[in-house]
Amino acid sequence: MPVYDYVCLDCHKTFELVLSLNEHDNESPKCPECGSTNVEQEAAEFFAVTSRKS
Ligand SMILES: [Zn+2]
Repeated sequence: MPVYDYVCLDCHKTFELVLSLNEHDNESPKCPECGSTNVEQEAAEFFAVTSRKS
């Protein structure tokens, strides 16, 4: 399944979610840090998720 990168617009935490396409379409991601749904999808999956500096 694809991995999606998100950034929380409230606390600026970045996090990853593994979602099926169906879940990605239907679920609103939630920040694991502060619980906000005010999140934005970041880079596409072909960017290395481990090499990004915070
Ligand atoms: Zn947050």
